[in-house]
Amino acid sequence: MASSIINGKEIGQEIRKSVAERVAQLKEKGVTPGLAVILVGDNPASQTYVRNKQKSCEAIGIFSELVKLPQEVSEQELLEQIRSLNNRNDIHGILVQLPLPKHIDEDKVIATISPEKDVDGFSPVSVGKMMLGQDTYLPCTPFGVMKLLEYSGIDVAGKHAVVVGRSHIVGKPMGQLLLQKDATVTYTHSKTPDLPSITKQADIIVAAVGRPNFITKEHVKPGAVVIDVGINRDENNKLIGDVNFAEVEPIASHITPVPGGVGPMTITMLLYNTVQSAENTLLQDK
Ligand code: NDP
Repeated sequence: MASSIINGKEIGQEIRKSVAERVAQLKEKGVTPGLAVILVGDNPASQTYVRNKQKSCEAIGIFSELVKLPQEVSEQELLEQIRSLNNRNDIHGILVQLPLPKHIDEDKVIATISPEKDVDGFSPVSVGKMMLGQDTYLPCTPFGVMKLLEYSGIDVAGKHAVVVGRSHIVGKPMGQLLLQKDATVTYTHSKTPDLPSITKQADIIVAAVGRPNFITKEHVKPGAVVIDVGINRDENNKLIGDVNFAEVEPIASHITPVPGGVGPMTITMLLYNTVQSAENTLLQDK
C-alpha cells in the first residue's frame, strides 16, 4: 500500500492565498500588517531563515522590518529594542530569531515581547494560554502540522498520537494541540526506553527529533499517519527528515516529505499569526 503524500507546499500556498486576501482587506481599512524580525549576529542559517521570512512577507503585502544587531549587543540593548517595537503601532508581530548569543538570556528576551505581538507563540503568556485552550498565537510549526492534518482530511479525535521529541518549540506544543483536538497523546524523548514499542501503537506519529532517518519501518504500524518535522542535512548537504521516507512511505497511510512537507507551513503560520494580530488591533479600536 503506497501512502498518500501530504503536500505542504500546496497546502501552504492555499493558506497564504487566503492570508493575502486578508492583507488586502486590512489595507483597504488603512492597516498594513507589519512584522519586525530581530537578528543578532551573523549565523548563516539564521540569516537564511530571516531572509525567507522577509521574502514571504513581501510576497503577500506584509511590511517587514529587519532589526540587525551585532553579536556583541548587550542584553539590555536588545530588550530596549523589543520594548520600542512593542510600542509601535505599525508593528503587529515581533520575532526574535533564535538561537541568541550565549551572553543573552533567551527566556528573558522572549518574555519581553508583548503577548499581543508574540506571533511566534513562544512567550510564557502565549504558552500558558495555549495550555488553557484560550485564544492566542499558536507556535508556528505545530500549528502548521495541525493545518496539514486538517487540510488532508485527517480527524485526530480519538486517535493515538505519539510525539517523538519534547522541545518547547515543537514537541511539547505539538502534543498540546493534538490533545485539544481530542487525540490521545503520548510524549516520547531521548530517555524513552524501547521507542518502537510505543510508536508502533500510534495512529499518528509526529517526529521532531533532529536525527536523520531516525524513524524506520520498525517504528510504524501499517496505515499510520507519519508527520516529519525534522530538517537535517546529509553528507551531500541535501535536506532530509527524521523519517526514513523510502522505508516508511510504503506502509504509512499518509506521510509528509522533506522538503515540501512541514517546512513550508512554519512561515505560512507566521504570516497567518501576523495578519491575525493586525486584525486584532482593528477589533480593539472599535
Ligand atoms: P531539539 O533538539 O530541541 O529537540 C529534539 C527532541 O528529540 C528532544 O526532546 C530530545 O529528547 C528528542 N530526542 C533526541 N534523541 C532522541 C532519541 N534517540 N529518541 C527519542 N527522542 C529523542 O529539536 P527541535 O524540537 O527544535 O527540532 C526537531 C527537528 O525539527 C530538528 O530537525 C529541527 O531542525 C526541525 N525543525 C523544523 C522546523 C520546521 O519548520 N519544519 C521548525 C523547528 C524545528 P530530550 O528532550 O530527552 O533531549
